[in-house]
Amino acid sequence: MNTTIKEMANGIFMARLPMPFRLSHVNVFLFIEEDGFAMIDTGPNLPGVMDALEDVLARIGRKVEKCRRIFITHFHMDHCGLAAIVRERSGAPISLSEIDAQKIRAFSIDHDRVRRMEAFALENGLDRDTIKEVSDIFLSFEKATVPFIADGYLSDQYHLFAGGHDLTVISTPGHSRGHLSFYLPTERALIAGDHLLQHITPNLSPDLIDPAFHPLESYLESLTRIEKLEIGAIWPSHGRPFTNMAGRIADIRKHHAERSLLALQALEEGARTARQVSQSIFGRDLSAFDRMLAMNESYVHLIALEKRGLCGRKKNSAGVCLFEHSAR
Ligand SMILES: [Zn+2]
Repeated sequence: MNTTIKEMANGIFMARLPMPFRLSHVNVFLFIEEDGFAMIDTGPNLPGVMDALEDVLARIGRKVEKCRRIFITHFHMDHCGLAAIVRERSGAPISLSEIDAQKIRAFSIDHDRVRRMEAFALENGLDRDTIKEVSDIFLSFEKATVPFIADGYLSDQYHLFAGGHDLTVISTPGHSRGHLSFYLPTERALIAGDHLLQHITPNLSPDLIDPAFHPLESYLESLTRIEKLEIGAIWPSHGRPFTNMAGRIADIRKHHAERSLLALQALEEGARTARQVSQSIFGRDLSAFDRMLAMNESYVHLIALEKRGLCGRKKNSAGVCLFEHSAR
């Protein structure tokens, strides 16, 4: 499989760990400290990933047992799935945002995430067969994150020192409500998690625990926050590091403006569910999992339009949510 390690700056390594998905890998960051190391993100608890992590650590003369601290960008399995196992073997404390730490705790109880996803999907017009397929996928990946209780919380502007480098925590909510990025001022680099990627736009989905969260609005604000920093290089969680942050952000803004317009246009014919709107935007030829992601992203655009007064929401007698163009 595809495991590589690259020195990004003195004492900082980016390791690319394999994943058995369309998204074929995740990048984690290792900071060399005396005989140990600190890390940002861990990879998922899926077959072969711990072996790959041990392999890259061996290449820089380190062992999992020598991990001193674990920092996490956000709660998704590919970022924190192995954190509890690394902690168990090394004693390293795990830190992340309080919001995402609570999410990991909540989701670890009684298939909580699956139940919340099912209720949300049903309310937004996804058919039962698709929901069943997606539930099975969610259930099959429950073990990909070993649940943990965080040892500490990180918040915006918190200063860290790792591998001889200063890091500043930058809160970048959007892709997840508690998403964090890590800024290295001396390197003019941002360890961006899934906030900014070169070739894909991070999925925006509703927060299943906090329905008041507005992912699109927060995401766009978080782009503005990082634009204010002196950043020469983005070190992302997927794909290669890249330099043209301003150009990439401009492209993503344009992409979301176009999506919002398509979502609004989809309401011109009449009231529609988020699922129906997603068919107008993303088409019909999607896998079950992608149908769910498309519905989520359409919902996120619709509630942003609603906040701007451009559409409204009502429920039909079956409890299904319909969005309506305000001008109609
Ligand atoms: Zn993610």
